[in-house]
Amino acid sequence: MINLDILIFAAHPDDAELGCGGMIASMVKQGYKVGIVDLTEGEMSSRGTIVTRYDEAKIASEILGLHYRKNLQIADSIIKNNRANQEKIIQEIRSTKPDICFIGAPSDRHPDHGKATNLCADAIFYSGLIKIKTQDQVSQELQEVWRPHHVFHYMQDRPIDYQIILDISDVWDIKVRAMAAYTTQFNASSDDDLPKTFISDPLFFQQLEARARYFGHLGGCTYGEPFAYHNLPAGVKNFDSFFQHKQKR
Ligand SMILES: [Zn+2]
Repeated sequence: MINLDILIFAAHPDDAELGCGGMIASMVKQGYKVGIVDLTEGEMSSRGTIVTRYDEAKIASEILGLHYRKNLQIADSIIKNNRANQEKIIQEIRSTKPDICFIGAPSDRHPDHGKATNLCADAIFYSGLIKIKTQDQVSQELQEVWRPHHVFHYMQDRPIDYQIILDISDVWDIKVRAMAAYTTQFNASSDDDLPKTFISDPLFFQQLEARARYFGHLGGCTYGEPFAYHNLPAGVKNFDSFFQHKQKR
């Protein structure tokens, strides 16, 4: 069992790296404990296999410096928001006790993304209900209830209604290396014999950089990642982040 500061949920291995790899690298660098839970093994991807996806995720996790990664092995392309899948997620939340959770876009180009987000959002709420009983997967002990204090959406393919831009300029190179670890998915060579897809085209990778520069421009930095708060209003204890451009006294 590990106590995390931040837990990210993703429909497929590589979704977290694409949507918030900069946030992950930045928070790890600042000393926070960060984990990813992938809902599916990405077995329906046109390129790669379950084995290659695990290998790629392992390399990306090491690049990011993750403290925890788990795959829930929910069936890819038929993600259902039912109690069985909610309980798998609740078990992860209660065993890692994150303060902040990140979930994907409310809806997106890939239908799995919105479905995964709804499932995770519901499970995060239910995780705080005392009458929903779950057992720790290792010890089999009854778990304590836990609900993260804050939940954010990260952006996936299509724009979301974001309120925050995180400066990821000093970790952009780490995000690029973590995304590039998924060699079967991105930057495909034109002469490999795997099916060509929307994301395997090298242009997709260039567009990711263009987008990070665009959000960096809006956020007053070089590279940025946008985030949306799941349940506004957000209660905060101070305004520390708003003093970043001013010398601390
Ligand atoms: Zn995905």
